[in-house]
Amino acid sequence: MTHPEKTARRLEDLDQSLIWHPFTQEQTAHRPLLMARGEGAYLYDASDHPYLDLISSWWVNLHGHGHPAIAQAIFDQARRLEHVIFAGCTHENAILLCQALKPHVPACLSRFFFSDNGSTAVEVALKMAHQYWHNKGHTKRRLVLSLEGAYHGDTFGAMAASKKSGFFDPFLSLFFETLSIPYPDTSRGDTTLDAREDAALLFLQQTLDERGSEIASLILEPLVQGASGMRCARASFINRVIEKVRAYDILVIFDEVMTGFYRTGTFLASDQITHKPDFLCLSKGITGGFLPLAVTLTTDAIYQAFLDPSFNKAFAHGHSYTANPLACAAARASLDLLMEPTTQSAIKTLCATQEEGITFLENDVPQLLLKPRTHGTIAAFDLANMASVKEQLKTAFLKQGLLLRPLHNTLYLIPPYVVTKAELEKAYHIIADVLRQVVLKKSA
Ligand code: PMP
Repeated sequence: MTHPEKTARRLEDLDQSLIWHPFTQEQTAHRPLLMARGEGAYLYDASDHPYLDLISSWWVNLHGHGHPAIAQAIFDQARRLEHVIFAGCTHENAILLCQALKPHVPACLSRFFFSDNGSTAVEVALKMAHQYWHNKGHTKRRLVLSLEGAYHGDTFGAMAASKKSGFFDPFLSLFFETLSIPYPDTSRGDTTLDAREDAALLFLQQTLDERGSEIASLILEPLVQGASGMRCARASFINRVIEKVRAYDILVIFDEVMTGFYRTGTFLASDQITHKPDFLCLSKGITGGFLPLAVTLTTDAIYQAFLDPSFNKAFAHGHSYTANPLACAAARASLDLLMEPTTQSAIKTLCATQEEGITFLENDVPQLLLKPRTHGTIAAFDLANMASVKEQLKTAFLKQGLLLRPLHNTLYLIPPYVVTKAELEKAYHIIADVLRQVVLKKSA
């Protein structure tokens, strides 16, 4: 291996100024950390300082960085077939990946459509739902219903379904019409949930009474809304929403781009919900965090509506790197790892440690913690005046070797499954100390 000091000097000399970073206010953000390598739950900067990746690098990494089994699968596949057009051709890894995923998804979902990221997985579901009605001759069904705070991606359809996320206000005038209903999020000790759920359902019923026959699809992030701040909802609420929309023949899309692959403790969040969707969007963790890939699953009934002797009814959608063989090989290797008993028990331990970690913070810094919550491997809480301390917090965490990225008022932890109990417990102690130093000192 190259000497860390030499690597550091070489990397620090690189000119970063050409790059415009995503979801970043370039004027105020700290200089991006130059990461040189990753191993297990840690990333290492140019000087070889370790950072515990508590956000799984935008929620994609499951088995830790640089996992040799996934790296090997990609290497082997690269020597055989790195890529092939996916219209008119197919390949072994795509077929075998779908076969491997099939037993883990709701039985009604039997058609798999590939793309390459979470936004496109959503875009595909929204477009398929729209075209399904179009192909059936119901051209009045053109509205999309979503939940307030939802984030489904940053392409135009996905943005329109996320219009109340607060991220996309400059584009509001360009979106097609969407409707939304309140999202009753919950946290520990919540006593108002029943009333807020009932109010949301009443609002939904009124919306359906007025416009139900115009709505093509409902899209939601089941159990946990990611980008709005890891906001948790009850499965019983989602079930009641689906019962209501199904009475109006509205198609249901589950966006499990973030919640898939055991993030909520079960393989899918769908596993905790009685009613199954007509579409399921998967991405992020699908390759264990190695390569971009997405798949949108649907039912045979939807698929049949696109069959016709002419091309007119076909689904005219596809990306150059659709079902990339390297990504499919990575996804198969990641799925194998997920099913290993050691991973299964690591996920259970992680869920329990997250519960304990949030309880620890509730006891240690009770005056700071708002809305403490966990669901499966995800833990989060809010801070009252996050905006004034956000950058300071990020820097303080980095100094202590923790990679965290607050969202709005929320601080959340969504680590790779290889993180150990001891590492995570230590991280919670550091978080408490940093909160005391940064937030309490500021308000003193
Ligand atoms: N859906 C959900 C639930 C997400 O959390 C995200 C990304 N945060 C997306 C869709 C979009 O995924 P991508 O960033 O891969 O386009």
